[in-house]
Amino acid sequence: MVRGHVSSEDEDQIVWQDTLDEIQAGRLQSLSCPICAEGKLEVTRRGQFTRVQCKKCQKFVEGQFGSFE
Ligand SMILES: [Zn+2]
Repeated sequence: MVRGHVSSEDEDQIVWQDTLDEIQAGRLQSLSCPICAEGKLEVTRRGQFTRVQCKKCQKFVEGQFGSFE
């Protein structure tokens, strides 16, 4: 597992850590937003970069989270 740098619009990206762990574990279905706790998360990939964004509050985290195919 390779974890590259992660950038977020917030400085509290640590709150995303559990979510990122879930994504890397392949559990994409059960994700909910760690910020608002209500929104569904949308995961999109561009090459090596993955973006996880809440559809409700629009908070997101983006970075290289490694492979989770
Ligand atoms: Zn949210």
